Amino acid sequence: SYEIEREYREQALEESNERLEQFAYAASHDLQEPLRMVSSYLRLIERQYSDAFDEEGEEFLTFAVDGADRMREMIDGLLAYSRVETRGDPFEAVDLNSILEDALADLQLQITDTNAEITAEKLPRVEGDGNQLRQVLQNVLENALTYSGESSPQIHLEANRRKQDWVISVHDNGIGIEQANQERIFDIFDRLHSREVYEGTGLGLALCQRIVERHDGELWVESEPGSGSTFSFALPAAADREQ
Ligand code: ADP
Repeated sequence: SYEIEREYREQALEESNERLEQFAYAASHDLQEPLRMVSSYLRLIERQYSDAFDEEGEEFLTFAVDGADRMREMIDGLLAYSRVETRGDPFEAVDLNSILEDALADLQLQITDTNAEITAEKLPRVEGDGNQLRQVLQNVLENALTYSGESSPQIHLEANRRKQDWVISVHDNGIGIEQANQERIFDIFDRLHSREVYEGTGLGLALCQRIVERHDGELWVESEPGSGSTFSFALPAAADREQ
């Protein structure tokens, strides 16, 4: 019957997802080692043989070092991505206010550099993996600080109850995102700008989406070019416990 066929297809899909995940994990894990060699020997050459190069040679060496650094970032990101399901912590009640504080502490340099103003409503407690939820907040905030255009970033966080969920929204006054691009920014490695304009790997939002999905939630964006973006994610509210 249809029902059985659908179940069968879903199961096959799940299995192929799992295989893909294992592949991504193994590939990125095994790529780390040779890449570490490339990086450390390049650094050695830079340090000990720099006199052997003319200006052009030195420039080529810089490109090679940059390339290796970028590959490292991507591999680290891929590893983190493939580990979302398998290496996550068990869920517990998580206070998003302290998660936000931690995320902001890590972003302090960028906040000062960009002269950003960040305001937040009191955030709720949700049920989840604190480590992963911090990655989500941090990634979204980092993007809000990065894709800010000319003016200094103004960022506001709010929380709204929606049935069993809390919806956390991060508003920014940045460059915004065209409707046509609003889906693909969640794809792995997909970016809208060249690295000369904005640095990045294109992994952040894909990772965030996977994490939010592990929490049975969703992550989405509302935006218009020139008038900022709002990234929102829904998370299950923490069960009310006797305090
Ligand atoms: P990265 O920032 O490393 O490129 P992300 O997956 O975090 O990767 O983001 C993907 C793309 O989505 C970015 O390259 C950028 O073009 C766009 N983007 C993300 N956040 C914002 C934002 N707050 N405002 C405008 N564009 C954004």
